[in-house]
Order: sequence, then structure tokens, then C-alpha cells
Amino acid sequence: MNRRSFLKWANMAGLAVGLPSVSAFGTASEDAKPGSLANAPATKKVASPETLLLKDYRPKSIYKIPVTEIAKAKFPVIDMHSHPYAKTAREIEEWVKNMDEVGVEKTMILTMTTGAEFDSIQKKYSKYPDRFEMWCGFDFAGHDKPGFGAAAVKELERCQQAGARGVGEIHDKGKGLRSGKSNAPGMHPDDVRMDALWEKAGELGMPISLHVADPIWMYQKMDRYNDGLMNAYEWRLDNQPGIVGLAGMVDILERTVQRHRNTTFIACHFANLDYDLARLGEALDRNPNLYADISARYAETAPIPRFASQFYAKHADRLVYGTDMGVDKAMYRVTFRILESLDEHFYEAEQFSYHWSLNGFGLSGAILKQVYHDNAAKLLAARRA
Ligand SMILES: [Zn+2]
Repeated sequence: MNRRSFLKWANMAGLAVGLPSVSAFGTASEDAKPGSLANAPATKKVASPETLLLKDYRPKSIYKIPVTEIAKAKFPVIDMHSHPYAKTAREIEEWVKNMDEVGVEKTMILTMTTGAEFDSIQKKYSKYPDRFEMWCGFDFAGHDKPGFGAAAVKELERCQQAGARGVGEIHDKGKGLRSGKSNAPGMHPDDVRMDALWEKAGELGMPISLHVADPIWMYQKMDRYNDGLMNAYEWRLDNQPGIVGLAGMVDILERTVQRHRNTTFIACHFANLDYDLARLGEALDRNPNLYADISARYAETAPIPRFASQFYAKHADRLVYGTDMGVDKAMYRVTFRILESLDEHFYEAEQFSYHWSLNGFGLSGAILKQVYHDNAAKLLAARRA
């Protein structure tokens, strides 16, 4: 399953949580076959270049240059951004085996759920307490009624007692907060109604995995100039009036993080500032309680390897590894290749659905160790202090 079909599946499944619909397993091996283009049946016919569609364009690199295969990450890895993809005991076992093979020590399962749904996921994964951590969501029921807060705080405390170690993934793509199936249209993270929840999470030592906005191309015009058109069109936001834009959401993120200094926030996916890493750098510099995860933005940063690796060097103490892309060994290995190697001009359209070619960052051992492991370990250990 490539990232586009994976995301489509995750979205249909209410962001992959709790529903026994299509599994990340089973379909994965079939879709991941080299040369099989799950999304591009048109390529089965020989398309004329005159009529070839961008979504079907699958160039192959012609360069005779080094190709680095990284079976296992250079250092033990903590994956700070994943979801309960494995639904059965057998699938969980298979995932653990994959993690062993590629060198992932521990995975944060962002369940986005509360109540019985959280408890059942927690129970399913309880056989491997050293390999998986369960993070719960928020219950936004009654967010639009006076007195919202007390019940949500109570449920957060209950989840923590049931085993939740953090909170996530909480989304706000501009229309208001969402935690899996629970949502709060129009209420953004910096809303005073959210104060009690953020504060309680800090008090309980639960870090927050917070996803704001979406990649910039989705806000731009869907035309010939849109650099990320093939993914942007599917996830477009340009046609949604009244939505808070990307810059506005990043400001909201910063205001939230500033208001709650005793709470640790992890901005998912570089806060969607993969196109403007300097802006993310400013936010990190201003906010000691802010981290960023690098999940699901590998393809968006690999086209700019020199600028990206400089950014990693500058903020090596605040970036944490994450995937958010299923459980396949091939998926993990692509992320290692981008972080570790100096390979150039390679395509991973099966994983990411972009026609762009990618390049490795060649990060140093010291930086890799921080991003793969040490920053996350430090952040997680701080909870027990
Ligand atoms: Zn995610």
C-alpha cells in the first residue's frame, strides 16, 4: 500500500482507529510489489506521452550512482508517531518482528481514542509493554456547551490510569480540533476552553502529539504551477472557505505552546512547515517545550537535502523520528535511506505518491542518534521525574 492509498484507507477508517475495516496488513505486500501501481491502472495500457497523466508518471532513475540499502537503522529507534495499524494478536506479533529486524525499539501508538475504545486497544497491545506505548485522545463532547472541560479532564485522568502515557494525535487542519471521531468544530488549540486539558496533560506528564494544518501545496491553486499537485489535489484545502490557513495554524500552535509551558508539545510532521523549515526553527527557538516529529514528510524534505540536513544539524535536539505510514519493513528502510545515506535522485513513488526524485541527507552519527532515539528517550523519561 503506498502512502496515498494508505492515507485514503486511514481516512475512511476514521484515521485507522478501532475499525476492523481494511488492514494495513495483507493488502500491503500485494500493493508493494515492485512495479505494481495500485493507483495507476492506466499504466497497464501503453499510454501515449500525449495523454499520459501526471498521477501515472513513474520515471526511473537512469544514473549509475551509489544505491544504499539500509536494512537496519544505525542506532536503536523510538518511533514517536504511529497508530494501531495491527488489529489482531498475530498482526501485532508480526509488527514486533518487523521492528526487531529494522531496529525499532519502541513505538508510540497514537490511538486518538478515549473510553472503551481506548481500553480495548490498550488491552490488545498489552502483551508488549516494552515495545508499544499507548497514547489516548481527548473527548470533545459538549465542547460547545458551558462548563466544557471537567468531564474531558476526568476522562483524561481515567485514560492515564488505564495506561495512557501521552495524548495524540490531536488534529486541527484549520476547521477546529479533532481526536479520531470526536471533534470540536471552530474550537482551536489556543481556545481558552482547552486550557484545562492542556494543563492537566502537563501535570500528568503526558506529552501532546499535535497535528496542525497540512502541506502547503494543498492550500495553493490546483494548477500547472503547483509543485505537489499529485498529492495536493487529492487532499485539497484550497476549496474550503473559512478555513484557518497554514500560517494562521502555526501561529495558533505557538500561542498554545507559549500558554502552557509545563506541557510538552510535539508538532507532527514538522508542523507542516517542511516547505519553510526556517519558520519552524523560529518556533523551536522561542519555545523550549516544543518538539517536532519528522513523520510522513520524508518525501517533502528529501528534494532539498542540503537545506534539510542543515536544519537537522541546527535543531538536532528538538526533532524526533516518526513514521505514520504503516508497518512494512520497506517503509522503515526508505526513511533510513533518506536520513542516513547520501544517495541522490531516487524515486519512491510507491511510498509517497510524488513524482519528485529524492535525495539522502547523510546525517552524522551524532545527529542520527539524537533524532532516532535520544531526544525521544529524554522526553519520555522526563515524565517520570
Ligand atoms: Zn498520524
